[in-house]
Amino acid sequence: MNYSELYKKIKKSIVASIKEAILEKHFYKMDFKEKKAWMKEWLKFASEKYGIKSPKLVISKSRVGEKNGCYEPLLNRIILSRCSIVTLLHEFKHALDFQKQKHVNLNRSFLEAIGKIKRSEDKARGWSVSLFAQASPKHYQRAVEKEKLLFK
Ligand SMILES: [Zn+2]
Repeated sequence: MNYSELYKKIKKSIVASIKEAILEKHFYKMDFKEKKAWMKEWLKFASEKYGIKSPKLVISKSRVGEKNGCYEPLLNRIILSRCSIVTLLHEFKHALDFQKQKHVNLNRSFLEAIGKIKRSEDKARGWSVSLFAQASPKHYQRAVEKEKLLFK
């Protein structure tokens, strides 16, 4: 699957906000504090656009183990191992889907539950990579060439 082509209709203001961060605010040249401040602001902005409660943000390598990040639904908290835009977008998509889901069927079978987790993972990968590719095709291409993306 080509994740970068999965989502074609992401809100224009959301794509523009990532484009601005990369090309105008020079995210990749910011120091840690600036990156973290921008990510917190972006979470507030994007949460408002989508009408969800803004997730809290923690950056801690030791808290996520081998992973790049995770979303804790019950605490509405995103934990990232480092300041990565694509991982931030990935975890935000989990927050968005979790908060927007209609209801959770507690009687769901094991296979149904596994299927839902897999779909939610594909959605988070697709949304984050598509958004990144649309915001800056050049940076997306570079990330692919340097093998910096887990999914493309
Ligand atoms: Zn995920």
